[in-house]
Amino acid sequence: MAQDSKVKRIGVLTSGGDAPGMNAAIRSVVRAATFRGIECIGIRRGYNGLISGDFIQLNAESVAHIINRGGTMLYTARSEEFRTLEGQQKAAATCKLLGLDGIVAIGGDGSFRGLVELSKQGVSVVGVPATIDNDIVCTDYTIGYDTAANTAVEAIDRLRDTMQSHERCSVVEVMGRNAGHLALYVGLATGATAVLVPEKGVDFERDVIERIRAARLAGNTHFMIIVAEGAGSAIEIGKGIHEELGLDPRVTILGHIQRGGTPSARDRVMATRMGYHAVQALAEGKTNRVICAQQGKMVDIDILEGLSMKKTISEQQYEVLEAMTGIDS
Ligand code: ATP
Repeated sequence: MAQDSKVKRIGVLTSGGDAPGMNAAIRSVVRAATFRGIECIGIRRGYNGLISGDFIQLNAESVAHIINRGGTMLYTARSEEFRTLEGQQKAAATCKLLGLDGIVAIGGDGSFRGLVELSKQGVSVVGVPATIDNDIVCTDYTIGYDTAANTAVEAIDRLRDTMQSHERCSVVEVMGRNAGHLALYVGLATGATAVLVPEKGVDFERDVIERIRAARLAGNTHFMIIVAEGAGSAIEIGKGIHEELGLDPRVTILGHIQRGGTPSARDRVMATRMGYHAVQALAEGKTNRVICAQQGKMVDIDILEGLSMKKTISEQQYEVLEAMTGIDS
């Protein structure tokens, strides 16, 4: 049922690295806005589009059949110009020209820092966390994480089959920027021999060599080493293993395949819930908020407060990992 709101028209954009589920979030923002009688404008190419006035009209039908699609129908970008005051002023001028009462940005923590600057120019803003890294401090979950983790697990399972056949060592680099959440999760799901995450620092002898040795002593003849991209180079780790143990590791950098693909049910549902709450926050006259999943519920909190918290790796998960590694599978 539609509700009265002073908010008549909002803009939605995707920004930063793409993540599976962004389309589901766009759809949800548009449909939740329509439900409330609010018009929705899609801003293309992230903050660049806000600066240049690159937009499309969206309605309930224009976001049909995208809930199951990876990528983002609005395209995404990293905008150097938006980092400048001039760029932010141009973006705010576009909002004024189009009569936008608020902006929903779907992206990572960089995109939220951008929102803070945009709000200083008088624009109401709400952020929806979407990044495969799951590194946004204030929320238990970010859109894209589940799909990316499943993509990595599937790829590693395939690698494991061939590593097992040839009794080899595999070193796999997973994404995550400076965070190890994805690597830790994937390591637990694949039964890795060793997992390297930036939060714990890397002692090559202790964390790699000793783990492989323990696995070999336990009878294993193939080894799976998972490296978070922020913890070091998989190529260098592979070379080190060759030098110290005489093994001939195969190195795989999963890279951008982790960013694409059909979003999982979890990502679609989280994106749909978050998009709905973002519109609700704007309709209630709120600004400078980020939508967060906290203990199963959606809440909105102040963006700066959210960005100032420090997210550490799950100590409980890491403790379990310590007990499981060095054995393989
Ligand atoms: P991901 O981490 O998944 O790639 P992200 O949103 O963190 O996503 P960034 O490239 O860090 O990606 O940020 C996206 C965009 O947000 C930047 O290209 C820039 O336009 C804007 N932005 C980031 N930080 C700031 C800032 N401090 N001030 C103004 N704009 C910013």
